[in-house]
Amino acid sequence: MINIDGSFGEGGGQIVRSALALSMVTGQPFTIEKIRARRSKPGLMRQHLTAVQAAAEVCGAEVSGDAIGSTALTFTPGTVRGGEYAFSIGTAGSTTLVLQTVLLPLVLAPEPSHVVLEGGTHNPFAPPFEFLARAYLPLLRRMGADVRAQLLQPGFYPAGGGRIEVDIAPVAGLAAIDLLERGAAVARTAQACVANLARSIAEREIRVIRRQLAWPAEHGEIEEITGAHGPGNVVTITVEHEHVTEVFTGFGERQRAAEAVADAAARECRAYLKATAPVGEHLTDQLMLPLALAGGGSFRSTGLTPHAHTHIELIRKFLDVPIETQREATG
Ligand code: ATP
Repeated sequence: MINIDGSFGEGGGQIVRSALALSMVTGQPFTIEKIRARRSKPGLMRQHLTAVQAAAEVCGAEVSGDAIGSTALTFTPGTVRGGEYAFSIGTAGSTTLVLQTVLLPLVLAPEPSHVVLEGGTHNPFAPPFEFLARAYLPLLRRMGADVRAQLLQPGFYPAGGGRIEVDIAPVAGLAAIDLLERGAAVARTAQACVANLARSIAEREIRVIRRQLAWPAEHGEIEEITGAHGPGNVVTITVEHEHVTEVFTGFGERQRAAEAVADAAARECRAYLKATAPVGEHLTDQLMLPLALAGGGSFRSTGLTPHAHTHIELIRKFLDVPIETQREATG
């Protein structure tokens, strides 16, 4: 039994999700205490509980402590089985974070899977669907995974109601990759989406991004989403290079000017374009798990967040793989 102190490092939900994924793949049971101790509302929230339940369903696990607000959990995994799964978060909780929990175990399962997830698809502090589809999944595919995702219906905080669908075909395993350079620049786009909100919000956002990044008009797109359950606004800046695609996101919020939403995303993108490392902050966080499961690989990152350090510590509890980090003199 692996014992985890949920308050270590970042002390958030990522520890729970990654522990579940690692437990499912390695077959090692774990107990975690002080779940999300460093968050203002500690314990399992709806999104984390759905992740626990999804993990349990996918591998027929024995679980105790799986309740809203619970600060301790014990998870004893069974064998991961691919198949038809539907996970509904019941709030605007992030579908991509629930997917993060079961994706790699299902990628490594011997059967194909079809997974439908309902909840939020564009949530602050979580990978938006475009990040999953454009940045993360292409790298997983390069590692050998056979996985496709489709956005069926966008869902924004707080209304939710979004749906994504993921198809996974079995593969022998994951292969290591080395991602040390970006390669040649291929494409750059900025998209501003509004759902049940004025188109002028998106127009203002695109104007700010074009000015901040000095991009010509053809790099900006506006999308008006129909059929969403509530209002929503998201800005997505995509920078594609030969070996990697990075996605920078701004989420519209009440009381926050469209200009401020776009400006923050554009600044993030500008900082990335100034650097040379291929892998940005969020991808760094998310690439560690597949690389560790592949048993090798390397990448250059724009920087290691506390999140990334926490993730490394957690992976070391489950897998006997050496993980080295090295600071570069520049870049
Ligand atoms: P909480 O404890 O409140 O539930 P959490 O701990 O579950 O939060 P985090 O630990 O912050 O959530 O993890 C969020 C995940 O979402 C991380 O994998 C992070 O890389 C990813 N993420 C956050 N924001 C973005 C973004 N804008 N683009 C891509 N990925 C993101």
